[in-house]
Amino acid sequence: MKNDLPDKIRAELAEKRSAAEERAYNALISARRDAEFCRLDDEFRGLAFDLEKVKIKGADTSALEAAKEAAEVARLKRLAAIGGKIADFEPEYACKRCNDTGTEEMTGAACVCTESRYLELVATHCALGHSAPYRFKDFKSSVCGDETHKKQLLLLKKYFEGYVQKFPDVKFPNIVLIGETGVGKSFLISAAANALVEKGVFVKYVTAFEFSNTALTYHTSPLNARGSVLEDILNFDVLIIDDLGSEPMLKNVTCEYLYLVLSERAAKNLAVIIATNLSVEDIGARYGERVYSRLTDVSRTKRKEITGKDLRVTRGEI
Ligand SMILES: [Zn+2]
Repeated sequence: MKNDLPDKIRAELAEKRSAAEERAYNALISARRDAEFCRLDDEFRGLAFDLEKVKIKGADTSALEAAKEAAEVARLKRLAAIGGKIADFEPEYACKRCNDTGTEEMTGAACVCTESRYLELVATHCALGHSAPYRFKDFKSSVCGDETHKKQLLLLKKYFEGYVQKFPDVKFPNIVLIGETGVGKSFLISAAANALVEKGVFVKYVTAFEFSNTALTYHTSPLNARGSVLEDILNFDVLIIDDLGSEPMLKNVTCEYLYLVLSERAAKNLAVIIATNLSVEDIGARYGERVYSRLTDVSRTKRKEITGKDLRVTRGEI
């Protein structure tokens, strides 16, 4: 899906370009159905052609130029009389910078229209919507329980902002964010998710419950129906699992698939961000040694802890 986007954008542009060109061509064909306009149009085009030939020869063009100008006036007058405009004969491209070619003619660089369309499509594919409602700018230090908590949240906000800014060139692609319910974990990870998507990163954001359900669907589907069930979870640039530990434990599913996903993503050097209210020891006890070792792999993972009172209880925000 990620790799298909440039082709998709090129195809969309080609479609826009040919639609604009077809509209212009049809406008000309339609005007030329008027016999008088058709005669004047032919006359004008014939004179324009002759003029070019004379110019190449270097001969005097003044008589032809005057004739061409008169023919143009007559042609436009007739066109106006039949309700047409000369501008309709020129394709009206959606992007004036690149004429829907995707490339700026002067510089040969990719046009901004392709970049903004790319970001739009990434956002559509990631579909964060209500699952990740926060942005970094929504942070209000006034909602923090106390000074220690406020300092922690500010430091973590800075850490996550730095992660987003550097991504994908981050030293530790994985983050395990540990803290009690309601201390601001969801704020941090959803703000990071939105900021990553805004810079064109594919982010799959799931609650642990959704992860578990998706794994169950995959596990219980016949082989030929599994198709793309796990595709985003395995292949998006960043996988975010919110509230790990809150999902029901499904025998042979939760631990197995969590390990499978963590291993496959590590092999592809793809990032995983996990928020949980479990301690690392609890993670080991709940998901087993293999998942524990993946989530505590210090070569890829940064562990961040957050303490503090439940913000939702204290102030009803974040
Ligand atoms: Zn453009």
